[in-house]
Amino acid sequence: MAFKPANNIQDLQYFGEFGGVNPSISDSSTYTFLSAKTMFDTFEGNADGCYLYSRHSSPSNLYLGEALAAMEDTETANVSASGMGAITPVIMQLCGAGDHIVSSRTIYGGTYAFLKNFTPRFHIETSFVDITNLEMVEAAITENTKVLYCESVSNPLLEVADIKGLAEIAKRHNLKLVVDNTFSPLSISPAKLGADVVIHSLTKFINGSSDTVGGVVCGTQEFINDLRNVNDGASMLLGSTMDSLRAASVLKNLRTLHIRMQQHSFNAQFLAEKFEHDGLKTVYPGLQSHPSHELFKSMMNDKYGFGGMLTIDVGSLEKANELMELMQDKNLGYLAVSLGFYKTLFSAPGSSTSSEIPEEEQQEMGLSDGLIRFSIGLDADIERTYHMMRDCMEALDILSPKASTSV
Ligand code: PLP
Repeated sequence: MAFKPANNIQDLQYFGEFGGVNPSISDSSTYTFLSAKTMFDTFEGNADGCYLYSRHSSPSNLYLGEALAAMEDTETANVSASGMGAITPVIMQLCGAGDHIVSSRTIYGGTYAFLKNFTPRFHIETSFVDITNLEMVEAAITENTKVLYCESVSNPLLEVADIKGLAEIAKRHNLKLVVDNTFSPLSISPAKLGADVVIHSLTKFINGSSDTVGGVVCGTQEFINDLRNVNDGASMLLGSTMDSLRAASVLKNLRTLHIRMQQHSFNAQFLAEKFEHDGLKTVYPGLQSHPSHELFKSMMNDKYGFGGMLTIDVGSLEKANELMELMQDKNLGYLAVSLGFYKTLFSAPGSSTSSEIPEEEQQEMGLSDGLIRFSIGLDADIERTYHMMRDCMEALDILSPKASTSV
């Protein structure tokens, strides 16, 4: 039977202490024990169901983690205070001095900076490759490689990773395949396709209200236990723990993710088709012209579409800035980084979210100055939005009025 990630979330039921429809929030940093022996056993990791200290785990964080594990079909999950608070401990847990990582070269700028500038301090080196070229990926593997790292749909170029193909390579070379699935929750289920570890920045679509940062690592019980180990667990010791109040609020927002993703994808597909038809250089995995359109289709779960992210190239940073400012003036969205909000967000990645990547490397990977990344919102009337965006583009000579198409 086809995998239905939203059903898995829906089937999880938690009641509050007094029969509340939402689980009670564990508003405590520490927990009492009736016996000293149980406290000792809990430290040793041998007292199931007991809580020790909230940096290690808390009931509220476990509820959210279990719901996300159900969504990604992994044994369990560990939530964290941010997406980077999920990514960095995974890397530090899997790699030590002398180890090597093969990573996609088009990834979120913060992850790129961590692998390029930070982990070399610990003698962990990374080769950045074109993730869509499996031969190049395999050729970059050395005897010290421990991790294959990618985003299912990459930030900001929307390259699509062949997760099955990468999982086969990882298996052959005994590597862990780590996939950041932030751009395609519900649409793509990396663990079903062979990924060992699946990460999300919850900050984006999953929470969806742009009111917090958050992250999650989904994986096997053994790996999550390793991350939480009091003696050498990177999540436990680096300490990027989500607060219980926030975990409870993210869980409530997760309950509507399936509806939101359908609307984000519907709106993005509509705009991408119109923009492309108008002659704008448009990248969206739902377009036939996207080089990995068929690959995305072969991996996707029914109903959730190709996601809410699209890019257009308007030729120069100056034009991109003018357009974004005008669209913001018209209340079509906000000139802001991040994604997954009810409102459309836009930014020029070359000078913002990917500015950590040196200019020559940006050019090499096709990240041009005039690129605008859109996170398409939940607009009720996307046709009206399209016409208003078109008016902005015409006003700035990005599109000529003659080329106007009727909808
Ligand atoms: N992964 C991706 C694909 C992202 O876009 C981001 C943030 O923009 C992150 C990870 C980092 O997440 P956070 O900002 O929650 O630390």
